[in-house]
Amino acid sequence: MKKSDRDEFRDLLVEQRREVLEHSNQLNTASRVGADGVPDFADYAAEKAEAEVNDRIADSESKLLEKIDLALQRIEDGTYDTCAECSGKIPLARLRAKPAVSLCVNCQARKEASGS
Ligand SMILES: [Zn+2]
Repeated sequence: MKKSDRDEFRDLLVEQRREVLEHSNQLNTASRVGADGVPDFADYAAEKAEAEVNDRIADSESKLLEKIDLALQRIEDGTYDTCAECSGKIPLARLRAKPAVSLCVNCQARKEASGS
């Protein structure tokens, strides 16, 4: 992988990381606000449901952050475009579309089919 490619993907990942962090900060702020002091079951249920959705989003975002950090590490290690499973090359077009992936299309498909 060329140095210019590494720089390009590092930028993409850093940018993506910033966006995820920004978004999860917004979620945290949103869940702190709410409760207007009026006890209303419907409101409470809606807030609870919203909090659960936020939790799920926060959960998937923290997983995404882990992937981004891993991808940044892989750039430093020089293994960024190498599939973590079969050691095959991951096409740059795939990495451009999904900068945080660590598997080639075949391994990703196999992993998703096995449900993990
Ligand atoms: Zn693979």
